[in-house]
Amino acid sequence: MMKKEDTTVQDKASTNGEVIVRFPPSPTGYLHIGGARTAIFNWLFAKKHHGKFILRIEDTDAERSTQESIEGILDGLTWLGIDWDQGPYFQSAFAEEHRAAAEKLLEEGKAYKCFCTKEELDRKREQALAEKRDIKYDRTCRNLTPEEIAEKEAAGLPYVIRFKVPDRTGKIGYRDQVLGLIEKDYSEIDDFVIVRSDGSPLYLLCNVVDDIRDRITHVIRGQDHMTNTIKQILLYEALEKTPPVFAHMPLTLDPQKRKISKRSHGEVVAVQWYREQGFIPWALVNFLVLLGWNPGTDQEIFTKEELIQAFSLERISKSNAVFNYRKGDPKFFTDPKAININAWWLRNLPIEEIADMVKPDFQAQGIWEPAYEGEKRDWFLETIDMIRSRFHTLKDFATLGRAYFTDDYQFDPKAVRKNLLKHPELKDLLPELAERLKDLEPWDLQTTEDALRAFAEETGVKAGIIINGLRTVVTGQIKGPGIFDVMVAIGKDRIVARLSRAGELIEEFEKEAA
Ligand code: GLU
Repeated sequence: MMKKEDTTVQDKASTNGEVIVRFPPSPTGYLHIGGARTAIFNWLFAKKHHGKFILRIEDTDAERSTQESIEGILDGLTWLGIDWDQGPYFQSAFAEEHRAAAEKLLEEGKAYKCFCTKEELDRKREQALAEKRDIKYDRTCRNLTPEEIAEKEAAGLPYVIRFKVPDRTGKIGYRDQVLGLIEKDYSEIDDFVIVRSDGSPLYLLCNVVDDIRDRITHVIRGQDHMTNTIKQILLYEALEKTPPVFAHMPLTLDPQKRKISKRSHGEVVAVQWYREQGFIPWALVNFLVLLGWNPGTDQEIFTKEELIQAFSLERISKSNAVFNYRKGDPKFFTDPKAININAWWLRNLPIEEIADMVKPDFQAQGIWEPAYEGEKRDWFLETIDMIRSRFHTLKDFATLGRAYFTDDYQFDPKAVRKNLLKHPELKDLLPELAERLKDLEPWDLQTTEDALRAFAEETGVKAGIIINGLRTVVTGQIKGPGIFDVMVAIGKDRIVARLSRAGELIEEFEKEAA
């Protein structure tokens, strides 16, 4: 039985109510949505407590870190609207401090040089495995005499520096803000390596030294880092510093409970991809925050202010977060919830904001007109406001909504089959309708509707057939806003021109279908 006083629990750090958090990505790849979520949780927590959010690039792995990745991460965060109060700091700039900390631990007898070779360690490990013993380092070098050390050094033997886990019985633990009390028996903790044989300190130590220097009060990170936490708490103690409060977030898994990665899931795990797909940055933040956090109510849509208000570490879930995406599902190009949240913001943001977000894509597509910010501003805003209710991403304006802005638009094959090919009579009817409309004055909802209904009555063709055919010819789509709104938005000249050549158009579709 363990006596209670045998457990050293790091309960709550003395933060004096201050909050300083950090996001320390390793710049070895793209900004993953899981990484973005970590940044968002830290950012929200800082905002909520009027604290500071520091961006720190953990670039000590010189071989794997790239400038491209650093830029991608900064760009991604900026696009999401996640701003930082300090930084970016670069871990590599503090190499001296990291080495000094290791040196200090060595001098104070809290760490030791280990000369065991890799071969020796492998052999011992295999033997321990075979005998079903603990595979921890057997501490051969922990008690070398100063003479023995000097001798080995003189012989030029390489060494690593290991942390000397205190000789204590009982457990060490901490109160995780998400998971509660986490503890580990001292006897189970390995004398872990803090400096490699080439003299470079390990991430585990650098991270602590940086957090101490930056006066970090709360470490909010993924559960994948939990294997480090107890060791890091030991490092804080050895460096005579109070550890921060820890909060470990659940991992993000797919419905098959696999970790999501580019290799297995493709681009859909990269923040950049959402940008390219026409996501609204805030909508992605809104979605990501719900991966592993909930407000305790059914609310799913949050403004920035609401989210800052509602956010708390206690409501981060303990169990895995599910990113509901099945690769290859033709219906959903990402988690349906992400699409729905994006569509909600697309419908509800002020239309001027949507106009600004749509502009770069229109420019890239060559369908932007400067007049959309000048004399055609009102028309542009009304039109995108009218069509947005059916759209899911910003891209839809230049694809599904293309016919409003250019004569160069595509026809949905399903619409062509259903609304045109099944009704060959439209080949004559639609050009006739064009004739009828060309002198219509004024051109508004009422006059266009009256003209169309009168035409249907005279020709004896159901209005629905004419309307569906008309919609497909003038927009390329099977569905859309009310047809008279469409006619008014596209305008008389373009409607008449498009209907006039409906005969040839349908003939071409017939040839293609034959
Ligand atoms: N550099 C680590 C990572 O990218 C972060 C570790 C931490 O948050 O302490 O996963």
